[in-house]
Amino acid sequence: MEQQNKLGIIKKSDNFSEWYTQVCGETGADLVDIRYDVQGFVVHKPWAFKIIRKIYELLEKEVELDNHEPMLFPTVIPEENLLKEKEHAGFAPDVFWITEAGKEKLDRKVALRPTGETAIYPMYSLWIRTHKDLPLKRYQTRITVFRNEKTTRPFLRGREFCFFETHDVFETHAEALQQIHKDMKIMQKVAFQKLNLPFIFFQRPKWDKFLGADNTFASDSLMPDGRRNQMSSTHDLGHNFAKAYNVQFNDKNGTKQYVYQTCFGPGIYRLMAALIGIHGDDKGLILPYSIAPIHIVIIPITFANKQQLNEKVIQKCSEVERRLKEFGYITKLDSSDESPGFKYNKYEMLGIPLRIEIGPREADGDEVTIALRTRDKKEKINLKHLDKEIKDKIEAYEQDMKKRAEEYFKDNTTQTESLTELKQIIEKHKGFIKVPFCSTDFDGQQCAETLKAETIGGVVSGTKFENPEKVHTGQRCIICNKEAKHIVYVAKSY
Ligand SMILES: [Zn+2]
Repeated sequence: MEQQNKLGIIKKSDNFSEWYTQVCGETGADLVDIRYDVQGFVVHKPWAFKIIRKIYELLEKEVELDNHEPMLFPTVIPEENLLKEKEHAGFAPDVFWITEAGKEKLDRKVALRPTGETAIYPMYSLWIRTHKDLPLKRYQTRITVFRNEKTTRPFLRGREFCFFETHDVFETHAEALQQIHKDMKIMQKVAFQKLNLPFIFFQRPKWDKFLGADNTFASDSLMPDGRRNQMSSTHDLGHNFAKAYNVQFNDKNGTKQYVYQTCFGPGIYRLMAALIGIHGDDKGLILPYSIAPIHIVIIPITFANKQQLNEKVIQKCSEVERRLKEFGYITKLDSSDESPGFKYNKYEMLGIPLRIEIGPREADGDEVTIALRTRDKKEKINLKHLDKEIKDKIEAYEQDMKKRAEEYFKDNTTQTESLTELKQIIEKHKGFIKVPFCSTDFDGQQCAETLKAETIGGVVSGTKFENPEKVHTGQRCIICNKEAKHIVYVAKSY
């Protein structure tokens, strides 16, 4: 078996948390620099930002296919807007405020947005007049939001973090519910199909909903430490914000009605954390093809004092590079002076899907060596069918990733009806545990709190939104022993 990575990072299975920190840092894939001189704020380095940009592109494409149009709101929100929606005022303790400009104190302080609702909906009340203005579907992308988080971790919790949000307005609640299904489909397309990240789409219990929402829905993946990672949320806002900001429309009969609203926020950061944590291994990142900033790296195998031979190798490498670029693959030929071994480690750490190696013996022939980042064994491909060979390898690579991630998810989703057993499973960091539970309405909150205390951190994450598990006759709440109404998923959370 392999020792510690030659670039010196710890094994993922030995200490996931430390491994994660190292992969994010300079000795790893160099994604962030946490030494920025304002506490809790981090710098995103080129490799991270290239990946983030690709995630944004995937989401932008999908929401535009779903008829959303882009817009860009100011970063600042007046205090009275933020505090108007009563429930939303719960955000206030975590908000950064601007109170001065130059030497002058501002007449009214403004907040740095913690999220978009209270900035956007007062404007919606100006824009929406009649049923003809509906549905209204808009989104903001490539922005950041600010929250005064007490503890921060790269891509899991930050004081300023990358944000994406849709804000949709409908005439009827049925349309709003339909949108929640569409948001789930978007996550299936982006997170699962493109990023190979399995997840469950939950309806959260009432006590765990977003402030100001009637219901909250979320996609949770499972990190290697067994914790759930919330990768997106959709909120069914009902009339709550419409009433607070007076968002009304004249219906077909000319009667004024409040609108129904939903908002959807895929977590750019959380998707990054999932990509790093779920796919990565002891050698570093493993990036899905769809977001890899480089698809294929070509490494020439050259030797000291063999100038002529080396030139032939480089020439062959350039020829393969040119052809791959023509096929549309993002390709990098690394002919720097570092040793091939150093380069292997470096590009493995960055998570590049495919590596082609060309040495003196291959410079003349039609065969070259290829290594998939998901496999230890190298293979040969024939340059005569380069396009087809690469297509096949990428497909195999994606299948490897999906299979590994799905197996982990499946192996770490269990069930029990006994609290003792639940405690034992959670102690072993075992992911999701399905348990019978009395209620996901507020009357179940006490049981959820007891469960959390008993299991030292186990959180009732909710019920499956689609095809929720059926409760069998006689099943009782794992805490209060009353008749169970739901099968809920319990996991530790970040
Ligand atoms: Zn109960």
